[in-house]
Amino acid sequence: MYKSFIISATASILSSPIEYLQGVSTIRGDMLRKELSIFNCRDLLHYYPFRHVDKTKVDTIASLHPQTEYAQIAGTLIHKEIIGEKRGKRLVAYLKDETGEIELVWFQGINWVNKSLVEGHAYLVFGRLSFFMGKVQMAHPELEAYAAHKAGGKAFLEPIYPSTEMLKAKGLNGRAIGKITYDLLQRVGPQELPENLPESLIKKYKFLSHFDAIRQIHFPASEKHYQHALRRLKFEELFFSQLRLGLIRSARHRYSKGLVFDQVGALFNDYYSHHLPFTLTGAQKRVLKEIRKDTGSGKQMNRLLQGDVGSGKTMVALLSMLIAADNGYQSVLMAPTEILAQQHYNNILESIKSLPICVKLLTGSSKTKERREILKAAEEGTVQILIGTHAVIEDKVIFKNLGFAVVDEQHKFGVAQRAALWKKNKVPPHVLVMTATPIPRTLALTAYGDLDYSVMDELPPGRQPIHTVHRFENKRSAVMDFIKEQVALGRQAYVIYPLIEESSKLDYENLMKGYEEVKSFFPEPKYWISMVHGKMDGAQKETNMQRFVKGDTQIMVGTTVIEVGVNVPNASVMVIESAEKFGLSQLHQLRGRVGRGSEKSFCILLTGNKISMDARERLKIMVATNDGFKISEKDLEIRGPGDIEGTRQSGLLNFKLASIVQDRLMLEAAREAAELIIETDPEMNMAENLLLKNYLNQQKGKTAWSKIS
Ligand code: ADP
Ligand code: MG
Repeated sequence: MYKSFIISATASILSSPIEYLQGVSTIRGDMLRKELSIFNCRDLLHYYPFRHVDKTKVDTIASLHPQTEYAQIAGTLIHKEIIGEKRGKRLVAYLKDETGEIELVWFQGINWVNKSLVEGHAYLVFGRLSFFMGKVQMAHPELEAYAAHKAGGKAFLEPIYPSTEMLKAKGLNGRAIGKITYDLLQRVGPQELPENLPESLIKKYKFLSHFDAIRQIHFPASEKHYQHALRRLKFEELFFSQLRLGLIRSARHRYSKGLVFDQVGALFNDYYSHHLPFTLTGAQKRVLKEIRKDTGSGKQMNRLLQGDVGSGKTMVALLSMLIAADNGYQSVLMAPTEILAQQHYNNILESIKSLPICVKLLTGSSKTKERREILKAAEEGTVQILIGTHAVIEDKVIFKNLGFAVVDEQHKFGVAQRAALWKKNKVPPHVLVMTATPIPRTLALTAYGDLDYSVMDELPPGRQPIHTVHRFENKRSAVMDFIKEQVALGRQAYVIYPLIEESSKLDYENLMKGYEEVKSFFPEPKYWISMVHGKMDGAQKETNMQRFVKGDTQIMVGTTVIEVGVNVPNASVMVIESAEKFGLSQLHQLRGRVGRGSEKSFCILLTGNKISMDARERLKIMVATNDGFKISEKDLEIRGPGDIEGTRQSGLLNFKLASIVQDRLMLEAAREAAELIIETDPEMNMAENLLLKNYLNQQKGKTAWSKIS
């Protein structure tokens, strides 16, 4: 009785609405919810400061120099006035200490600040500095009366929290949030914030307790205490995310029911022995074995296949689908664009034409009559391999017995679309998800940690690295001459224009201008040019694409609709216009359209003369390496995880403290620790693991991880 009373009482402090705290009015409460998603007291404790100010350290104005980013200054307000009009309206004030004078300026909340500033009073200000013509200015400083500061006598290290303009207008600046957090921490003890890691981990890594870590991250006794707290809380974030993902994976391994492919039959054997156009690479063989093992296990396979551009993922998919057919199951291969679906269809049809197996293509532009026939065939089970765009997952598409689903270039699909595949059979089909561009291991672990994971880190033999160069605009005609040389050798070329938004008129105008320009260098009838862009309908795209595939046209002008997957081995030059506008993974994808045969290939990155530092960095990396894994690591470093394609909606990378770039080693350690628990005590019933279970239950519903992929 007593115990349960305590639990409910303690639960109520942290789960109380934020208005429970002194100084939080309904208006402020609303604002905290809206602006920072802080709903209850627990959320507030997990809203961490972004820095601490050493309150014992006050800078003198004379000591400031252009390299000083932030400063804290104590002085007397000598003068203030509102100047300018309308959008130029601002409040300026001058603060003076014994060594000099500094200008403070506000562009927002002018009236409110003006009211609180009194000439002749002493203030402590803190903020970012800017220097202009020898003058120092501090815009929107945090500010408090100096007397109050002296009387406060709080911690040496005062936390500063990220705040917003809206919150500041309600008096909740980065410092004020600290005041309410401080108030809350006075009422919370270890029983409200119990330990959540097993003793063994705490010992191994010499962690602070959970409670101490939360306290010290806000109000550290010293810089060292802060670092300890930070280390512990970062580990928690990484560890619990790995534990959750691992539990999903292990539950699927243990409980899911999967279709059993227990034989390799005639279709596979016939194809493998008589029609395989090349020997498989070691990596292809290994991955095929992994898939064989999964699909024979009686559990559902949910596997992510990572392989660099051109590593031969399609062949792995085809061989797997043949095994499915050998076991009496249908397969589906879903591609992100019509061009790609069509290409897969053509290639697969061609390579298995002598086998007794029925392959069909279904896309948005399939004709009504044809569509009806395909739907009927899918339902009756007479089509064994269905290739298409997301048209294949529409509700109308019913399978007799779908056993294997391949999602090509997964980053183009949303989670919901992948989920739809699962529902296409009573026992969900095995799912193989193939990536367009490799992603770094740390990202794979966090964003797709619930999937099984294969890597193809080997290219088919005989591939030569693609020679990549960066050229400025003014070298355009030399670039065109180079294409002429290659075309004279019987090769083909791509010229790609950026398409930032599907609907952007400007981008299309650029493309058309580009097309005319290319045409002026390559006049008919000596040369023929194909063009493909997103505004064409499926049939138009296909005709243009096919003319290029067949070699009827020597040059393909297009937008990034040809970005992924397109395979024309005779093409040897890739020119990327306005290359500075593309991200690294896109550049790498585009470049991967050449170098698919055994001849030497080239990639030319054309840019204007003025490009940003970031763009320059990207181009340098492209010139330096052909290795997709290396490029993805760099991409992660430059852009951070939030922007990496395909992970944006995953919600899994929103760590508050940890960074999968800087804290790689800790992530590996957290993963190892989580794996150990999952292997030895997956139900977390051992005494020392009970707290893990409690904590996970308490956090339930907080994280939306990707159950399906
Ligand atoms: P991606 O992994 O980028 O999807 P593809 O599956 O399109 O790559 O394969 C790229 C090219 O390599 C294709 O022309 C394919 O026929 C060829 N290929 C695949 N596997 C091998 C292999 N083991 N040996 C030689 N060529 C191969
Ligand atoms: Mg591919």
